[in-house]
Amino acid sequence: MTGRQPTLAAATRPTLDSDIAFIGGGFRTTTFLASAHALLLRRVRVYERGTTMGPGGFARYGITTTSIGSRFFKHLDLSGPFVPRGRSSALTDVARAEQPVAMDRLATALTTLGRTLQDALGADGVRLGSTVVAVHADRDRHRVDVRLADGSTESGRHAVLATGRTERAHPELACWRPKVLLSGTVISTAHRSETKDRLLAAGGRPVVVAGSSHSAMSALQILLDLRAELRAEHPGAPLPSVQVVRRGPARLMYDSADLARCGQVPGRERPFDPASDVCPTTGIVYRDSGLRHRSRALYCALWAGELPGATLVDAPVLAVAADRFEEAALVVQALGYHGQAPDLYVDGVLVRPGDSPDRLLADDDGALLVNGVAHPLLSVLRVEPTPLDRRDNTAYASDLYQRLAERLAAQFVEAGA
Ligand SMILES: Cc1cc2nc3c(=O)[nH]c(=O)nc-3n(C[C@H](O)[C@H](O)[C@H](O)COP(=O)(O)OP(=O)(O)OC[C@H]3O[C@@H](n4cnc5c(N)ncnc54)[C@H](O)[C@@H]3O)c2cc1C
Repeated sequence: MTGRQPTLAAATRPTLDSDIAFIGGGFRTTTFLASAHALLLRRVRVYERGTTMGPGGFARYGITTTSIGSRFFKHLDLSGPFVPRGRSSALTDVARAEQPVAMDRLATALTTLGRTLQDALGADGVRLGSTVVAVHADRDRHRVDVRLADGSTESGRHAVLATGRTERAHPELACWRPKVLLSGTVISTAHRSETKDRLLAAGGRPVVVAGSSHSAMSALQILLDLRAELRAEHPGAPLPSVQVVRRGPARLMYDSADLARCGQVPGRERPFDPASDVCPTTGIVYRDSGLRHRSRALYCALWAGELPGATLVDAPVLAVAADRFEEAALVVQALGYHGQAPDLYVDGVLVRPGDSPDRLLADDDGALLVNGVAHPLLSVLRVEPTPLDRRDNTAYASDLYQRLAERLAAQFVEAGA
């Protein structure tokens, strides 16, 4: 496949701007389209608020991934327009990596893939610097309107939401809001020097990290690195210690139930339940939800009291640690992510405002669930974090790309396009 081909849809529906509108041009959209080449024959238009197609949130963070590199590209089809990418070491080095990779390497690999996709989709196929503020689906007219922040509206036959996740201000930290930093800010390369300045300005008062997940451990690592830099640059200056407040023992990943039985340490980690916490396909314990690699090692050292400058504090609810939050110069919130999406309207009714506390739910084939019913014109590409009760099962969403591609293709068959 060397370029875009005219389709019947293009000929018969001149009033619509696209057949499929993708909202968000990050990791999910890029890897999905690079796995579903048949859809590239349709009029696809990607709306991305950033300036680059491909890396999404991964471009921001100065940390290492939790997943091994190859997992990010497991669906990739390096045929057709992607053949040259099969020779790009920026992509293949990550796509073959059987260990976690630095996020800047992952971002570069995704940018490489994104460029190929941009070429394949043509000038009209990717709208960079375009923030979507609302999506209106109209079943009777078989069309979806995409409203942009600049006030313009474009139309399509179907919209796929692939807008990623964000951290929202946590209500339990509301009292200390002015001194709360989100974990994503602490680990972002853009805010590194600002965070460092704040550590120095703390004048020795502690920094408290709320949470003990991978995000919390990533933030802890950055804080300790910055402290070490400051110690070398400002000998004798008072520097903050770091207190990590955990609401309960963390989950740690084990390759098998036997290893977990031998390795689990009471108090350090959450005991596993063989019925719910072991992946039925791989036998891995806490396959997705458990700390692994560097985060796991850091957490274990922290729990054992072997991490100079950092301590672990138990607080089943954050209010129990109120004195610590009060005393802290800085609080780092690492309490989870929430799917982000524009306002969603169905047949003229606002069914989900962008700031809704409700999760954006979808069927196994990606169809958006509106009041529990699959919507024919709207789909979702893994916007929300994996639901807790399905997190450790490798089967969860493993065929989503294939099923979504089939669902989208079927729409054109039904419409006779
Ligand atoms: C620190 C951190 C580490 C992580 N590590 C891993 C890991 O190791 N393995 C793993 O599988 N997952 C990891 N994740 C989860 C990760 O977020 C997802 O796997 C992945 O980024 C999701 O891809 P996405 O396309 O949904 O989001 P993104 O890649 O963030 O893409 C969403 C895109 O949508 C754009 N966008 C958002 N809103 C709009 C709008 N209104 N209009 C237009 N464009 C919009 C954004 O600019 C962005 O480019 C990590 C997350 C974080 C925060």
